Amino acid sequence: MRLGTKENPRHICGISGGKDSSAMAIYIKKNYPEIFEKLELFFTDTGSELPEIYDYLEKLEKYLDKKILRIKADPNHVNKFKVVAGGDESNPFEDLLKQFKGYLPAPNARWCTRTMKIVPLEQWIGDDYCISYIGIRADEMFREGYISRSKNKNIQPILLYQQDGLVLKDIYKLLEDTIGLPEYYKWRTRSGCYFCFYQRRVEWAIMYKLYPNLFKESQNYETEHDDGRTFTWVKDKPLTYISENAEDIIIRYIKRQYKKTQNKEQFTYSEQEMIELVKNKRLRELIDSWDMKKLHDVDGENKDGCNVCAV
Ligand code: SF4
Repeated sequence: MRLGTKENPRHICGISGGKDSSAMAIYIKKNYPEIFEKLELFFTDTGSELPEIYDYLEKLEKYLDKKILRIKADPNHVNKFKVVAGGDESNPFEDLLKQFKGYLPAPNARWCTRTMKIVPLEQWIGDDYCISYIGIRADEMFREGYISRSKNKNIQPILLYQQDGLVLKDIYKLLEDTIGLPEYYKWRTRSGCYFCFYQRRVEWAIMYKLYPNLFKESQNYETEHDDGRTFTWVKDKPLTYISENAEDIIIRYIKRQYKKTQNKEQFTYSEQEMIELVKNKRLRELIDSWDMKKLHDVDGENKDGCNVCAV
């Protein structure tokens, strides 16, 4: 029987590189093996993800013993997408940025999500009937994702966590028992492109220190326009502001976190020791000491964006 019909729908699960969608694939494998067997796992790859996200996908693939299809925008192809293997180095963002005449995407002009994620996904699904498993938890009813609000009648969203009553602590447990949390959670609250305009200033500052090459690329996107125009990722502030003040931004963040954290014992280092580590260029050592789960509990999750990019 043909796959993708009402009688024989495709079963799909989008992986963003974040905790909830990754745990969803694991949850289905453990609890619904008959669904897992026919499940198509996919990742809409912008080509501009953090290296830690690609590492995490590989880890997940190994655990699941199943490939995660990488769907990538291909703006110059009639289909607007291609399916690539891990390690493909094409960069659709650069082509698209040219098409958008250098205008950087922003919360109120989010062409990046539409062109690099939604269109390729819609093209990949085509007219097929699909059941889509979405990682929105029982404790985040406010959240909605592209597929959960899509008008595409061919896609039936299934919110398994809500159906089965799974909340944040269950997701942590699932991941702690299997592949752990994504490494980038130590310093970033959301998955997605390294230049994502939803990230906080401290995340830009930490990226400047940990991945100076990616920071530089982001900076180039702000300024490299033949007619001399400049755009900014952070509202009204060029990234040079972040690079010139990175240490101060990180130290201010540490002081804030320290002050609002009641149980100081969760920190491996005292406030002063943490500040010294930043000043002595030992940021990686400091970040590795952070308990990601507690850090997220203190900060709350970053709820900006939509599930296409962040769940
Ligand atoms: S992660 Fe951020 S920059 Fe990347 S597509 Fe999503 S909203 Fe756009």
